[in-house]
Amino acid sequence: MQTTLEGKTIGRCRVCGRTLTDPESVALGIGPVCRQREVKYA
Ligand SMILES: [Zn+2]
Repeated sequence: MQTTLEGKTIGRCRVCGRTLTDPESVALGIGPVCRQREVKYA
């Protein structure tokens, strides 16, 4: 899930719904903190 806004690719964390601005987290659809917590999703 990606959205381009003002020339920046942003996304939303699927766990907490927080806006993601770093490309890696956007690509995964989950923020770094939640990624560590939700390793079962990997
Ligand atoms: Zn999150």
